[in-house]
Amino acid sequence: MGPMADAYEQLLDATIQHLEDLKSRGVRHVAVSPETLRALAQPTPQELRGSRREEALSSKSEIRNPKSEISAPAAEQTSLLALPGETVPTTAPLDPQAKAAAFAALRERALACVKCPHLASSRKNVAFGVGSIDAQLMFVGEAPGADEDEQGEPFVGKAGQLLTKIIQATGLSRADVYIANILKCRPDTPGQSAGNRKPTSDEMATCIPYLHEQIDLIRPRVIVALGATAVEGLLGKTIGITKLRGTWKTYRGTPLMPTYHPAYLLRNQAMSEKRKVWEDMLAVMEKLEMPISEKQRRFFLKA
Ligand code: URA
Repeated sequence: MGPMADAYEQLLDATIQHLEDLKSRGVRHVAVSPETLRALAQPTPQELRGSRREEALSSKSEIRNPKSEISAPAAEQTSLLALPGETVPTTAPLDPQAKAAAFAALRERALACVKCPHLASSRKNVAFGVGSIDAQLMFVGEAPGADEDEQGEPFVGKAGQLLTKIIQATGLSRADVYIANILKCRPDTPGQSAGNRKPTSDEMATCIPYLHEQIDLIRPRVIVALGATAVEGLLGKTIGITKLRGTWKTYRGTPLMPTYHPAYLLRNQAMSEKRKVWEDMLAVMEKLEMPISEKQRRFFLKA
């Protein structure tokens, strides 16, 4: 073996060692820059062409396939390696096992999170999210209330039961979609035995990376933002939900439908308000090319 091949061998071993280290620290995805991809496509020194290189690449089966990265838009590629637990947005399909592992690791991190010490000490449970990680449709709400804090699951209280009914009216179940909140912990209400409060901007900014990672992994085709806080958290818009609802927006390339929070419908039982939310859901169903019956089209319309 010549000196060139020797150097190559050392470099390859160092790379493998580095990838193994990252893997042992929980990293499941490595982004590769276009430059690196081009360099990888260059012929290797003759002595190493074939078996050794192939072996090195195939032994990294959990690392994202660099070839599939070629099809990802350049804007979504980065030359940085993902930090432990981080995911890098890409349009390349995710390996199901790697996706499930990354999601489980994300959940573990969120469950152990103490970034908002006041919420970490007051919470009973972290309500991370519920549903299918392969869902095409994702609902995002504001923050857990008392019931969600008790059960560690988003939207299980009164508003949640109404959300479940809305989901079922489309023909789907809670298990078909994914439901999460901007905040994973219940906003504390010191000195009060009941009631909820809106999350502060600081709390939202601290917690939102978990939701971004959830969305990056699930890659829903459509997101429904329930209420003004969800819209604010995802799009940064603070204009009223009354103006925004029913109009398609985009969250990092994914169609997003803002609609009223189910808690609003509990406070305002008018048929016209229910119909507005239902029209938003009909638009979502159309976007997802779901079958819509005549009966469904007429829900909440006066006879
Ligand atoms: N309201 C929300 O926004 N989220 C929940 O999980 C429950 C009520």
